[in-house]
Amino acid sequence: MTKLLSPVLAEVSPGYVQWFCPGCRETHHIPVASVHNPGQNWRWDGNPDVPTFEPSVLVRGGHFAPNWKQGEPCWCTPNPSEEDWGFRCRQCHCYVRSGKIEFLADCSHELAGQIVDMVPLAERAQ
Ligand SMILES: [Zn+2]
Ligand SMILES: [Zn+2]
Repeated sequence: MTKLLSPVLAEVSPGYVQWFCPGCRETHHIPVASVHNPGQNWRWDGNPDVPTFEPSVLVRGGHFAPNWKQGEPCWCTPNPSEEDWGFRCRQCHCYVRSGKIEFLADCSHELAGQIVDMVPLAERAQ
């Protein structure tokens, strides 16, 4: 059950927070206090309005995923017979610091290398 913690941050399940990534145009979520992954939590300063997470967040999907093998079909493989599920092959590597998303240069989307304000979750559908 998703619960808004602030306009830009939500709790998707206990110990997991989510924000909207304007680079990927989808939400990312990370464990910050998960009892199931005690060694894999991000450090969160506890501020929901202008959060800071450490270390950086790396999201990889499709042919950017580490287990993808060269030549396998991926989400960007043209496949006109199947419906578009909305998945995109991408790599997103960012820091969230003081309410800003710092995209690193190795992002596959057009916001690579830029620092942008976090996006209100209510506006994510636009
Ligand atoms: Zn992203
Ligand atoms: Zn791909």
